[in-house]
Amino acid sequence: MMTDFDTIIIGGGASGLMCAIAAGGRGRRVLLLERAEKVGKKILISGGGRCNFTNLNVSAENYLSENPHFCKSALSRFTPADFIALVEKHGIRYHEKTAGQLFCDGSAREIVTMLLAECRAAGVDIRTHCAVNAIRKNNRFSIETNRGTFRADSLVIATGGLSIPKMGATDFGLRVAKQFGLRIVPPSPGLVGLRLGAAEMRALGGLSGISVPAEVSCGGQSFREAVLFTHHGLSGPAMLQILNYWRRGQTITINLLPDVDLAEAISGWQKTHPKTALKTRLSEWLPKRLVRHRLAPPFDAKPVNQLSLKEIAAVTRAFQAWDISPTGTDGFRKAEVTRGGVDTAELSSKTFEAKRVRGLFFIGEVVDVTGWLGGYNFQWAWASGWCAGQFV
Ligand SMILES: Cc1cc2nc3c(=O)[nH]c(=O)nc-3n(C[C@H](O)[C@H](O)[C@H](O)COP(=O)(O)OP(=O)(O)OC[C@H]3O[C@@H](n4cnc5c(N)ncnc54)[C@H](O)[C@@H]3O)c2cc1C
Repeated sequence: MMTDFDTIIIGGGASGLMCAIAAGGRGRRVLLLERAEKVGKKILISGGGRCNFTNLNVSAENYLSENPHFCKSALSRFTPADFIALVEKHGIRYHEKTAGQLFCDGSAREIVTMLLAECRAAGVDIRTHCAVNAIRKNNRFSIETNRGTFRADSLVIATGGLSIPKMGATDFGLRVAKQFGLRIVPPSPGLVGLRLGAAEMRALGGLSGISVPAEVSCGGQSFREAVLFTHHGLSGPAMLQILNYWRRGQTITINLLPDVDLAEAISGWQKTHPKTALKTRLSEWLPKRLVRHRLAPPFDAKPVNQLSLKEIAAVTRAFQAWDISPTGTDGFRKAEVTRGGVDTAELSSKTFEAKRVRGLFFIGEVVDVTGWLGGYNFQWAWASGWCAGQFV
């Protein structure tokens, strides 16, 4: 069994597979080590089983990082069009869902099959069920595993973030970074639902199951998507997105009627429907349960013509500037991604090699670059993997 390679990649997820394809395609002898029984497990469950594999509108603004410029180079060198070309080469049918999000028509499995076919064509040696016990570096890297010791000139860490430990996520990549003295931006769950305190939760009690389009804002960032009320807090795409920007102690503001000037609408109804109860009019726009929750007595039963200007302002605040104070999130157990990771200041944005450790590369989610919901995280994985693959 061959033990000497040009490059060893640890982690057979999106970024590791893409890096292997690029490096193998350059004629490098590549070994890819995966701890699980198969590669690409997160790809398989992604996008509800259809894999939202990229987004047509990718730009640096769709990513969070301590250095927002770091991702620009890779995103411009391997673009959504490059990944789409690969998908089309393999005859995978896809569609645009919303706002540039591309999904497979069939199944996410097609993407994994495509990546494995490309790995085969590039001569990549893939070993699954492979647990790494130790990494040593002299002139070359020496990787001790439960399946023997392997050596290579370069080592790529593509072991992803901490999200969903049940799927095999570990802090392996961060431990390797620490072993080599690289700084880490503290990790936290991203694209995750939020938790509320007991009192706030009790108040929301009857709303579970409701989903409404809304605008949510926090820390100068806003998203317009669905908000979902759950048994233990708030979720839905809008909440997952804003949680990437939320920091403990901050409030999140929900506008349930982002396309409406509510104060103006109410003064209009005072002329056209003076005797109607406010809740009747609002229930034309929002679920009745939600209207009841936001319209505290005495506003709920009052005819619109009896509302004072002060009361109209209070109602408007209740629907369009509803402040909630999360106590926490659903955690890594449910998070789609991990914020933070290996500090980008430690890495070259061109090659992904550690500036202080020759031959050591970090790609994908283990790096402090986190994308929005909507195919941005896979595009980062493909782009960072492909770029590193040109230099390993
Ligand atoms: C439920 C869910 C749905 C998602 N849907 C989407 C979506 O539709 N679109 C999108 O853009 N993003 C989506 N994401 C995010 C996306 O899956 C990740 O951002 C992306 O997979 C990161 O790629 P990666 O290669 O860095 O890590 P991963 O894909 O997580 O791959 C890491 C690999 O390393 C392996 N590994 C870990 N530790 C070791 C070790 N010690 N030794 C060997 N191997 C190891 C893991 O088993 C895994 O195979 C989703 C995430 C989740 C959890």
